Amino acid sequence: MRLLLAEDEQALSKALTAILERNNYSVDAVFDGQTALEYLESDNYDGVILDIMLPKKDGITVLRELRSRGSRVPVLLLTAKSEIDDKVLGLDAGANDYLTKPFHSRELLARIRAMTRSQTAQPDSVLQLGNITLNRATFLLSSPTGSFRLSNKEFQMMELLMANPRSLISSERFLEKIWGYDSETELNVVWVYISYLRKNLTALHANIQIKALRNAGYTLEETP
Ligand code: CA
Repeated sequence: MRLLLAEDEQALSKALTAILERNNYSVDAVFDGQTALEYLESDNYDGVILDIMLPKKDGITVLRELRSRGSRVPVLLLTAKSEIDDKVLGLDAGANDYLTKPFHSRELLARIRAMTRSQTAQPDSVLQLGNITLNRATFLLSSPTGSFRLSNKEFQMMELLMANPRSLISSERFLEKIWGYDSETELNVVWVYISYLRKNLTALHANIQIKALRNAGYTLEETP
């Protein structure tokens, strides 16, 4: 999943980016509200972590503009203050959740999982298809016979496939979602990761498979 982090405190932004990447998210960090809105025009994000006190445009204004143009991307507000007014204002402006600084990274991660859950149409942090599960908290890909802990890119690719079973996902979509628009990465890297995932599925005796459709992309399906 790709997250936008809008936080102007450089040290905190750096620390949060490291934590999120270690937990298998792709992250774009911006440092003011105006830039956040520009990045959000791409519609390429699964969630936004939005500080309220931001230069150029504050978080509440960003959130209002985002919602007024019809975006339903989940937004977690960060507030340095514990004033109830900020929280009420934020929730009324369309935030999905808020977190008061300072917070523990485990709580941040749990809240991100919770707010991005609705996008996967499954009620908890475990995605399932056939005899395979993917745990979004532990990154374990499991079957009744075993499990693998997936690395960042492998996890994100499998998450995208399992959240959209039987749907065609193009190589370009994987690339822009996981590696980002600005990436210099070549399209064939997607095929490389697909082949890793197929090896894992085979080793797990999965009754699902990643099918390739020539020049179109990949689908995750039950094995006939
Ligand atoms: Ca701030």
